[in-house]
Amino acid sequence: MMTTSEFLQQIIQYPEKLNSLVCEAKECAFQHGNITRINETPTSSEAVTYLPFTLFPSPMPKAIILQALAVQTHFNILVDKISQDPDFLEEALAGTIQVDDFTANLFDIYKQIQQEGLTQSIAVGLNRIDYMVDHREDGPSPLKQVEINTIAAGGLYVSDCLPVVHRHILRSAGLLEESKYVQDRNNSPGMCAALAKGWELYGQQKAVILFLVESHAQINKLNHRVMEKNLWDRNIPVIRRKFEDVYRRGSLHDDRRFFIDGQEVAVVYYRYGYMPNNYTEESWDARLMMERSLAVKCPDIGTHLAGTKKVQQVLARPGVLERFFPDQPQVVEQIRATFVGLYTLDMGPEGDKTVEMALAAPERFVLKPQREGGGNNIYGSAISEVLQRLKDSPERMAYILMDKIQPFIVKNILLKRSAPLQISDCVSELGVLGAYVRNAKDMVMNTCVGHLLRTKSSEHSDGGVTAGVSVLDSPLLI
Ligand code: ADP
Ligand code: MG
Repeated sequence: MMTTSEFLQQIIQYPEKLNSLVCEAKECAFQHGNITRINETPTSSEAVTYLPFTLFPSPMPKAIILQALAVQTHFNILVDKISQDPDFLEEALAGTIQVDDFTANLFDIYKQIQQEGLTQSIAVGLNRIDYMVDHREDGPSPLKQVEINTIAAGGLYVSDCLPVVHRHILRSAGLLEESKYVQDRNNSPGMCAALAKGWELYGQQKAVILFLVESHAQINKLNHRVMEKNLWDRNIPVIRRKFEDVYRRGSLHDDRRFFIDGQEVAVVYYRYGYMPNNYTEESWDARLMMERSLAVKCPDIGTHLAGTKKVQQVLARPGVLERFFPDQPQVVEQIRATFVGLYTLDMGPEGDKTVEMALAAPERFVLKPQREGGGNNIYGSAISEVLQRLKDSPERMAYILMDKIQPFIVKNILLKRSAPLQISDCVSELGVLGAYVRNAKDMVMNTCVGHLLRTKSSEHSDGGVTAGVSVLDSPLLI
């Protein structure tokens, strides 16, 4: 049986054949809904394009995907428990908030909510845990966690449309057997089910779900639209608003019910607000108002903080997972098996040791600040530069250090607008989607919704679809 890599080596010698296959892939992508607006004309519906994707699906061991799916509901519970544990968050983030204003602002809101007493005890969580498969690891778990995303985890709908495109392209390329190993995905409805459940528990037929968005012309709006429609189909009204709208026209009424433009809001779903530059003074006020309100938040401020890189590092310390799963050693083991080495840069002898270790072999690590969205991490010689500069300063506490994962390299062609057609050495990142709803103490929904795959050229250290580095992909099960 010919592999996709072998096929690529052949077809690259016949540019006409390759162009024709690529053209077919893009047309098939359009047909199945992989459409996005264009950066230059973000409000225009007259010229659109596709979200970048791979020509072929990338091989992924089925057993590893199953392992990632199996641990997801435990991660949901873990994130939810952390969000409700002020002592843990305070201790974990103590150093970080001294030097990182963004995390400090989030933490201030968290503290204020704790002091005032929670208004809403329903929590809706939609998260995505990202992994890579480490090729050096032949032990029981080559599946290694990159990070936990607890806010605005994206890539749902368009990635759902890819398997059908990939199967078609494999068939068209004559790789019939392989086409059987690409599975359908349907992640959007599962994620929406949690928002719908939160809305239902809120218990006001006329209240809306508010998608908190960047701007009304946001480039990935079409992606949100699929979720919005799914909710409307369940007879749940949805509105889109910006922080600015909330600041100007939102208010809290009796029992801290949150209203905007005359409509009561049952659920706030944050599709924005995960980066410092997402906020002005007014946005912080708007965020605080929503957090104080009776509206169900997805995520609430504690859950947002549970997704910080610093928390991820603290979770890897001995005994910490046991705190959250005291009677479930097998759960602890399942989660811990996915961790790589994570190291503190807090002031003190342990942090000093981390600095020394990183300076001795910077290529083995990734240095991470408390940021999301791709393009913020530091690699290789830049690690030495940053740590040489910061090693005696508390500013180092804004970062954590992580072992660098060495994923398998597979050949593929990345289809990106105005990028040349070429075979690239690629690495893939698996994202597993979790959805849960808690009502006071009871988990009333806790599901692993499914997975998605993103792939990038191995010459890039960092990733991100929005950052323009990663493209959408589907696993070819092996
Ligand atoms: P962000 O919140 O910006 O997405 P991530 O932790 O996901 O931050 O890192 C961004 C990208 O950097 C990842 O998608 C992955 O490609 C790469 N990366 C992050 N951590 C590691 C690691 N430990 N080993 C190898 N690559 C990593
Ligand atoms: Mg990431």
